[in-house]
Amino acid sequence: MTATAAPRHDWTLDEINALFALPFNDLLFKAQQIHRAHFDANAVQVSTLLSIKTGACPEDCKYCPQSGHYNTQLEKEKLLEIEKVVEQARAAKAAGASRFCMGAAWRSPRDKDLVQVEEMVRQVKALGLETCMTLGMVDGAQASRLASAGLDYYNHNLDTSPDYYGEIITTRTYSDRLETLATVREAGMKVCSGGILGMGEDAQDRSALLQQLARLSPHPESVPINMLVKVPGTPLENAEDLDPIEFIRAIGVARIMMPQSHVRLSAGREQMSESTQALAFLAGANSIFYGDKLLTTGNPQADRDRALFTKLGLHPEQRETCESTDSQATRLAQQAQQQRLNERAAELAVDAGV
Ligand code: SF4
Repeated sequence: MTATAAPRHDWTLDEINALFALPFNDLLFKAQQIHRAHFDANAVQVSTLLSIKTGACPEDCKYCPQSGHYNTQLEKEKLLEIEKVVEQARAAKAAGASRFCMGAAWRSPRDKDLVQVEEMVRQVKALGLETCMTLGMVDGAQASRLASAGLDYYNHNLDTSPDYYGEIITTRTYSDRLETLATVREAGMKVCSGGILGMGEDAQDRSALLQQLARLSPHPESVPINMLVKVPGTPLENAEDLDPIEFIRAIGVARIMMPQSHVRLSAGREQMSESTQALAFLAGANSIFYGDKLLTTGNPQADRDRALFTKLGLHPEQRETCESTDSQATRLAQQAQQQRLNERAAELAVDAGV
């Protein structure tokens, strides 16, 4: 496969396993070649994530402190007021984020909550930020409403392989998840979908997760690869650590399989050394969450992230497409205004008998 080959959706498990089995340096070299063919190698997209409704979730995801099935001492919060969300979005933008992600611990949103959520999307978008939401399963009508409100991305993770999935979640199925992803795509939104590593899955499960993600056509624009954060009170609090090198391999393989997607170094970054994070960027990760909190678990302080960016010579990715669209809109508005002024001047000239 050349660095610029068209994205594929038919990766076999044998091919994926072979990528994982490459000598580490060869894997990183290949991933880096593909990365450079599609992206500015030193640009990292920066998102900020806010929990807009916290805890008491009816789902039983074994890694999640927000599940109502486990006692994690988490402080529950109702759906936040719109003003509070907008205030946080403004702060995120000032800190350098280009996308604002909002997450609610729901199985799926109720239609009455959706009215408030739609308004959040409109107001956050009006600040000039890209918007992303993760609200659980959505049906076609809900997805259309979110898309009409201007939602850019919808996040819904596959979490793990189809085979291992039942060990982690029993309250909804893998096909429920795939259906939500298809619904989101049909509504015209961009897809953010990835998984969590270090939940006790084996190497074959990691390959199968990436295979499922790459089967989505088009590939998800955003692929978060999370390292499990072991939260006391959840069934996975004592899960065995995943070797960071295996984690980096998964990032490299994701980069090769989904060359045009942003691969996000996501939850678990706080527990990672700077060297592991640097390797993740070298393997092709080009997106992070930035800010103090990742939903309800910690995330390195924005200042530490900025210092790491400086150390590695990285810079936040600019919203090129959106900015060029925005500046085009500004230019058109200016042209229209100029035309109105010219017409008015002509009218005055006629009135004045010039
Ligand atoms: S991951 Fe999401 S759906 Fe699962 S328990 Fe947590 S908040 Fe609920």
